[in-house]
Amino acid sequence: MFRRNISLRKHYRCFSSDVVSTLSIKDYDAVGFDVDHTLSKFKLPYSLGVLHDGFVKFLSDDRGWPKNLNEPFHLQKDFCNRGLVLDIKQGNFLKLSQDGYIQRCSHGTHFLDDKEISRCYRSDRKLSFADLLKNHIDNVKYGNFRIFDNAFDYFGIVAMARMIDITDAKSIKNSHYRPSCDDYRHIWEDAKAAYDQTFPWRDCKDTSGSFVSAYKLEPDKFINPCSSSVRQWLRDLKSSNIKLFILTSSAADFAMQTLEFLFGVDWHEYFDLVITRAGKPGFFHKGKQFVKVEGTMDAGTVSELQKGQVYAQGNVYDLNKFLRKETGKGVPKVLYFGDSIRSDIFPAKRYAGWDTVFILEEIYGEKLNKCTETNHNDDLESQYLTSNQWGSYFSDSRIPLLDTCQFRTFWSQVIQRYADVAVPTIDHIANSPIDHPFDKFDPEDPTKLGYYPSLPLILQ
Ligand SMILES: [Mg+2]
Repeated sequence: MFRRNISLRKHYRCFSSDVVSTLSIKDYDAVGFDVDHTLSKFKLPYSLGVLHDGFVKFLSDDRGWPKNLNEPFHLQKDFCNRGLVLDIKQGNFLKLSQDGYIQRCSHGTHFLDDKEISRCYRSDRKLSFADLLKNHIDNVKYGNFRIFDNAFDYFGIVAMARMIDITDAKSIKNSHYRPSCDDYRHIWEDAKAAYDQTFPWRDCKDTSGSFVSAYKLEPDKFINPCSSSVRQWLRDLKSSNIKLFILTSSAADFAMQTLEFLFGVDWHEYFDLVITRAGKPGFFHKGKQFVKVEGTMDAGTVSELQKGQVYAQGNVYDLNKFLRKETGKGVPKVLYFGDSIRSDIFPAKRYAGWDTVFILEEIYGEKLNKCTETNHNDDLESQYLTSNQWGSYFSDSRIPLLDTCQFRTFWSQVIQRYADVAVPTIDHIANSPIDHPFDKFDPEDPTKLGYYPSLPLILQ
């Protein structure tokens, strides 16, 4: 077990990002990337369908859930919304405002009215640990609550809501909200097992889960190769002597196949270091010893990282040691790109003091959903990124339909606090010169926002 977390926090807090209003890539000594939903842009309609089908098949075959759980995912795609919090015990999904007020709430797929919400969460409707959550987004031990913070979560939202509906259908005889049982934790136990089967690299080396198998067989159905502008941008960064590294929680074989698909057989040439199965967010504050990967197999622990190699597990302390050696800087300035607030953006900022670029497709998705009425591919994708039932990811009225005053959502405020810049895809950065000054979020000033290429529609 790696035990340097306390000294690590002290060490990195001293060089947290300085207060400047713009971010230029050329100012960094090293740039790191998550892979899934960051370097690789998933085709959401197909990917989420496959993920969902494998997830519910496991629940039916192994856990005895009825076959009506297997309804196609796309029929409930409007129920998905990034940032929902599941109250596992009560079987409720919650949408929070910036101060933890419960703006919207559903029991299973059934939305509760104001009286019903107050009955569950008192008249103040405030999530009791919202302030704690804001400061510790990476903490998974919020008792009976679970956060859905990235696109790999969407299918689980639908499946679990249906599991709650199915549980209730056994006893509810009318349309009024009345939970059929006072504890829905058994649903989470089954869902957790289904998640582990879907993403098997989280705990073991077995990557034979149904999603992983389908992905390995036909990756082109799930993702597109990287654009030529992203490839050229990475080459430009390298020739500017910026060190580039991969930091992903995916298994080595899955990650390397993805990188080869994205960049071609010479994908190694783009990066100085590749870290797989990193176990983020733990990588940033406790971590493990690095394991060298040869081929796709573990080849023993190492205490020092070598340029051009592939590793698994590890910790930010040894990674920074490597970056100091490669850059010749006592405190290298690091920028990290990721799509998960919990696993990428929060821990990179909070524990490592890195600057962060948040990949957030919703910036474009909400705009497209409001602005287009065609069946263009982008518009179909945007339907998976937005929800009429839950409203905008960025802002919402205090009490939907009754109150016209808009309040920022909990996640909108969290982004401002931990991200420096937010973009829909990495292409939006790569298409600009490396000395382009991107406006940054200012945690202290809500008027200074780092969304690029433009504000989300609802914030304009
Ligand atoms: Mg990711």
